Amino acid sequence: MTKTYDILIIGAGPVGLFAGYYASLRNVNVAVLEALPEIGGQVTTLYPDKKIWDVPAMAGMTGRELIERLEAQAKRFDLPVLTNHKVTNLKKVDEEFVLEVNGEQEMRSKAVILASGKGAFSPRRLQVENEEELLGQGLSYFAPNLNSYEGHTVAVLGGGDSAVDLANEIEKRANKTYLIHRRDAFRALEQSVLELDRSGVEKKTPYKVLSTTKDADGRLKVNLSFAKENEVQESILVDDLLVQYGFKTDGQAERDWAVDVDWDKAGLVVEDQMKTKEEGLYAIGDLSSYEGHADLIATGFGQGPAAVNAAIASFDPNHAGPGHSSSLNID
Ligand code: NAP
Repeated sequence: MTKTYDILIIGAGPVGLFAGYYASLRNVNVAVLEALPEIGGQVTTLYPDKKIWDVPAMAGMTGRELIERLEAQAKRFDLPVLTNHKVTNLKKVDEEFVLEVNGEQEMRSKAVILASGKGAFSPRRLQVENEEELLGQGLSYFAPNLNSYEGHTVAVLGGGDSAVDLANEIEKRANKTYLIHRRDAFRALEQSVLELDRSGVEKKTPYKVLSTTKDADGRLKVNLSFAKENEVQESILVDDLLVQYGFKTDGQAERDWAVDVDWDKAGLVVEDQMKTKEEGLYAIGDLSSYEGHADLIATGFGQGPAAVNAAIASFDPNHAGPGHSSSLNID
């Protein structure tokens, strides 16, 4: 007989991990399922070394540190976090949720909290003819090791948080750092832009990259034009060209699952307490959609406890509401 969990949480990004920890604080039978071999979701995959400034009491911590701390917190009550568990379908059978895992295995739960983010994602590409050829030869979309830029000349492309944060960090290590953006204004956090203004990063705006060639000495020659024109205005020579144009998602496979819920363009529509239309099913983090929702880790940290408490009330109305953790007798 398959075991029935109280709550299964799908997605071990920061929001799913914290929701799992909170559920274990409330002493229910919970597990977190993660499709990938590693936990941490987008933070681990896309920006492990970038600093995050908008998480309470953790300002300036890297993505990697944030996930390590969440993992350590989750271990406090032995929360099972099952990696390589990709949920491939979800349906409701006789008041229980049945999750199909990796296309075959079945898991059951009284309530399910979806924390699976925006789905599979891939970086927006630099659209130059020889992009494939240059990939890994100076051109990249990820910066897994910031120390590898020591002494280099680096150009970062883009004007969002990723580009500005990376330019600020790389400037501390590189010989010379450029930030190339198609507008004069950056849409990163204001404090990050202030740091950029104070740094030695040379801004090239409003510019776009028209073409890139590899020099005989292995450096990249980056030809820039004004954003709205197609004539080379200036060329710079760099060792690394780091594109930070954001990410596009390949869609959410959850949209095809066999549960009756409402989706809109931004995600899975929820009401109060992160409830979906299906009783016992909740959505938190970037996957959830309601008016005014902000796709921030901090938002998801608040949504987790709301969903967990609502989930517990749904299958056990007599289970007392949440106390305050400060009054619990925990070593
Ligand atoms: P993003 O916010 O989507 O920014 C992408 C940037 O690339 C924009 O400035 C955009 O220009 C530019 N761009 C896109 N396509 C382009 C093209 N074809 N040619 C030239 N420029 C192009 O992506 P992101 O910076 O990776 O951030 C993704 C999300 O993660 C955001 O919500 C961000 O706030 C969050 N994040 C937060 C932090 C933090 O809190 N510290 C760190 C990293 C990421 P336009 O401005 O002209 O559109």
